[in-house]
Amino acid sequence: MSVSQDVLKKQLAAAEPLLWCNPDKRPFATVRERLPLTRADIDAASARLQRFAPFLAQVFPQTAATQGIIESEMIPADALREAQGSSLADVTGALWLKLDSHLPVAGSIKARGGFHEVLEHAEKLAEAEGLLAEIEDYRAFASEPFRQLFSRQQIIVSSTGNLGMSIGIMSAKLGFNVCVHMSADAKAWKKERLRAAGVEVIEHQSDYSAAVIEGREQARLADNCHFVDDEDSTSLFLGYAVAALRLEKQLVEKEITVDESHPLIVYLPCGVGGAPGGITFGLKQVFGDAVHCIFVEPTHAPCMLLGMATGLHHDICVQDIGLDNLTCADGLAVGRPSAFVGKVMAPLLDGSCTVADEDLHRAQVWVKDQLNLALEPSAVSSLFAPARVQADANFLAANGLVDKLDNAIHLLWATGGSLVPAAEFERDYQRGQALINSVSATI
Ligand SMILES: *Cc1c(COP(=O)(O)O)cnc(C)c1O
Repeated sequence: MSVSQDVLKKQLAAAEPLLWCNPDKRPFATVRERLPLTRADIDAASARLQRFAPFLAQVFPQTAATQGIIESEMIPADALREAQGSSLADVTGALWLKLDSHLPVAGSIKARGGFHEVLEHAEKLAEAEGLLAEIEDYRAFASEPFRQLFSRQQIIVSSTGNLGMSIGIMSAKLGFNVCVHMSADAKAWKKERLRAAGVEVIEHQSDYSAAVIEGREQARLADNCHFVDDEDSTSLFLGYAVAALRLEKQLVEKEITVDESHPLIVYLPCGVGGAPGGITFGLKQVFGDAVHCIFVEPTHAPCMLLGMATGLHHDICVQDIGLDNLTCADGLAVGRPSAFVGKVMAPLLDGSCTVADEDLHRAQVWVKDQLNLALEPSAVSSLFAPARVQADANFLAANGLVDKLDNAIHLLWATGGSLVPAAEFERDYQRGQALINSVSATI
């Protein structure tokens, strides 16, 4: 272990908020051919979601207006600079917010990956049964022969909450038996909502990694069962990556230029790594070196940063350096990173940033007051990264960003929140407001 790695580990262990610069990033042209997945894989995932769009529009009326395409808006977020105590006050360039918080049906970033994997599995089963040959379009997936087929099949997933919502809702809608193993972090309302949708919910007192082991084991013992393995799923990853193709279109529509001198800097909240990793992989395919991706994790659960910085990836967890993996950002409460994402990210990612829980509640207040949006704590973590990047001369130099920030497009990926019950949000808001007041009282 190098000296600087030793210092980094100590800072992480002390739960100090920090920005880590990834030393292994390379020019995209030199790594494109060496990546384990390709642009064609993303196109195939995108085409699959397109095939299922008529089905989705039919069974989820809230997606009818977009013809069954489940996508979120990006909105201007410059107003966030005005919030009291805002971490963005001095950040130059344009601020945008990507509202995965408002993705229909699942209410989080998990909609793309989770739905994609369930639909891919359903499509394979139908194909094997010979059901695809005769149908006109995929609305047939709502018909009796398909439902009969899926009713003999089980889907299992482990979750800190949002992945369970995404997999549970879609699986139940298709007629699968579905069982969600929830870690201790999962919020009560998410469990209730799933049970109401006919999903079996098993509650664990343990953290996420343990819930994954339980779920995987249960699936291994069962017949006709598919385990959605968040720690090691290319189907989830590619579903997430589709976001990049859609973002490319949105930028064109808004006439926003992205090139070497107008960098797109994307800040992605990270748990096990699948969602931010898939999106980064997709964005790199589309924008190459003009896009810069930075992950954001809680100071108590920086599993991806730890795995990448040590090169140990899935073989190290935050508990190994004495952290507790306890955070109010339930979507990011993951102690051990994905088995493959960190390795794919090694030549692609600019770096990673960590954020303290208290800051998350403050940022929830800023977003509510300035943009009238209710986001969950995980989803606002990205708000703290731009200022850290701007203040770090070494980071800017290493990533080719010197003198480019005035033209930068900062995209803060807001990953969840629209389904959070009002009372739950109000509690977070009050906490954040109290923190803001106590900070300004001491100034
Ligand atoms: C799951 C989740 C993330 C991160 O996704 P991973 O695939 O776990 O890295 C970010 N934000 C929210 C709200 C989530 O639910």
